[in-house]
Amino acid sequence: MILKIGVIGTGAIGQDHIRRITNTLSGAEIVAVTDVNAAQAHAVVERENLNAKVYENGHDVIQSAEVDAVIVTSWGPTHEEFVLASIAAGKPVFCEKPLATTAEGCKRIVDAEVAYGKQLVQVGFMRRYDKGYRALKKVVDNSKIGEPLMVHCAHRAPAAPGFSGDMALTDSFPHEIDVLRWLLNDDYVSAQVILPRNTRLADKGLQDPHIVLLETKQGIRIDTEIFVNCQYGYDIQCQVVGETGTANLPEPSSVLMRSEAKLSTEILVDWKDRFIESYDIELQEWINSTVKGEMDGPSAWDGYVVAVTADACVKAKETGEVVPITMPERPEFYDKSKSLVNS
Ligand code: NAP
Repeated sequence: MILKIGVIGTGAIGQDHIRRITNTLSGAEIVAVTDVNAAQAHAVVERENLNAKVYENGHDVIQSAEVDAVIVTSWGPTHEEFVLASIAAGKPVFCEKPLATTAEGCKRIVDAEVAYGKQLVQVGFMRRYDKGYRALKKVVDNSKIGEPLMVHCAHRAPAAPGFSGDMALTDSFPHEIDVLRWLLNDDYVSAQVILPRNTRLADKGLQDPHIVLLETKQGIRIDTEIFVNCQYGYDIQCQVVGETGTANLPEPSSVLMRSEAKLSTEILVDWKDRFIESYDIELQEWINSTVKGEMDGPSAWDGYVVAVTADACVKAKETGEVVPITMPERPEFYDKSKSLVNS
């Protein structure tokens, strides 16, 4: 069976996903697209030579009899509406992060999915599909370094165009929030935010960097540096310290050069290059499981946990205090998903 997909939002990542589904992946085709910028949607259909209809709005895409499954890549504040409509229509939906812009919105999606009675929602946390993170998880899961005790992380990006307010915590850090609880099979109980000396190279009024300290239910302590104007590259670091050893996230492969009296390797600067393979694997696995009527990627519950944790980080930054992270009981409904962590 070829999965017929409708895409809502043909901006940057929407176009990337359309291209990879059309040119790189197998088992699916784009049959419907929409964007508030209709001219852009038409241009994408033409440029990519798609056999797809351009619909007036996202709801028409979701309702179309041609569409088996939906991809939501529109502006964040529209995600909740389109995910809820997909659930109401009984259609599998892959939603780029954020699942919704508020924890309450994520909870409404969780409630709707549970009431519908079948898991339909996957959230675009692609780091779980990165080969390096998967290799690191294998080491942790197979107790190669004993029980994990501490994790040291860094999320560095060269610049943060368009960032305002707390976007480092609410837009960049969510990838760390998701991948670390997945990596450790654990959940968070508190957050604290430390504000180091500010770089002069961030936009006016923007705090950068941040250090976020998270504690998990098992007592693992995680420190993450989030530095979104670091200038030199897009650099994601993660080291798990266990009882008997340490394990580091592998560096992306790069040629080691000896030249001009220097020993050097390149550092990537674009997040798209760093995670390009992960996006391919993420969507191929989503297509494969959706065709089988299954859903085993990051769930709506995972999207909700991320939103609650990000809110706690913002509060911790504002108050300077250690903020407890409390979640309602996870519905048993989500126990079926392989992506879930034990709570
Ligand atoms: P973008 O380039 O601004 O694209 C979003 C598109 O959605 C724009 O074309 C926008 O049109 C359109 N849109 C807005 N409201 C809409 C509506 N009601 N119906 C249909 N289309 C609508 O942004 P992007 O970079 O692609 O990001 C899209 C989403 O993906 C964001 O939530 C972002 O956080 C997420 N994302 C995730 C990752 C990841 O690593 N997983 C990476 C990049 C982006 P206008 O421009 O005319 O408003």
